[in-house]
Amino acid sequence: MLIHELTDKECFDALARFGFGRLGCARDNQPYVVPIYFTYHEGHLYTFSTAGQKIEWMRTNPRVCVEVDENTSPVQWLSVVVFGHYEELPDTPEYKSERNLAYEMLQQRVTWWEPATYVAFHHHRGADPLTSVFYRIHIDRVSGHHAVPGPVESATLPAPERATKSEGRLLSLLRRARII
Ligand SMILES: Cc1cc2nc3c(=O)[nH]c(=O)nc-3n(C[C@H](O)[C@H](O)[C@H](O)COP(=O)(O)OP(=O)(O)OC[C@H]3O[C@@H](n4cnc5c(N)ncnc54)[C@H](O)[C@@H]3O)c2cc1C
Repeated sequence: MLIHELTDKECFDALARFGFGRLGCARDNQPYVVPIYFTYHEGHLYTFSTAGQKIEWMRTNPRVCVEVDENTSPVQWLSVVVFGHYEELPDTPEYKSERNLAYEMLQQRVTWWEPATYVAFHHHRGADPLTSVFYRIHIDRVSGHHAVPGPVESATLPAPERATKSEGRLLSLLRRARII
């Protein structure tokens, strides 16, 4: 397996393409990770939530982490890790344009609100399930890894996961040299 570092731009492209990941926040040295949908726009992840534990925790400690990944096979995958900080977009004139932007972008995902409201209605513990919270995550730092099959795995993988042309040439050289 060969692992490549992604550039920042490749990481942002992946975030825009996936729109789904795991949000990690922490309070009193206790991490908390939940799945969320988001929309990437110009260095930010925009998302929506109902009131609950993660919002309370991020208000206390705005430093967060988001992970997204695509797992095609054990030797072919892509993952991106975002380090960032939480910014709430309250319903005030000052935040009107950011909220509108968040709303417009999140509307592109037709079911973006369902998991948040479903969980709030069925499992809320004291929080008002109808209180919606728009927020965004400022991306401070991002890293990405992309794994592709190496020559050895390529020889045993089914056709779609086989080596690219250049890896194929390397493979035949290794075979000729009786290394594999
Ligand atoms: C595919 C998917 C997409 C989602 N997208 C969004 C989204 O875009 N926005 C959003 O706000 N929410 C989304 N959710 C729901 C989200 O993961 C949380 O469950 C929800 O937001 C409630 O989080 P909370 O911290 O407010 O929990 P609370 O309602 O405050 O619940 C507190 C306790 O419930 C438990 N709990 C909470 N969530 C989960 C969970 N997912 N699985 C297991 N236990 C849990 C934990 O033990 C936690 O301590 C999504 C869920 C899924 C599966």
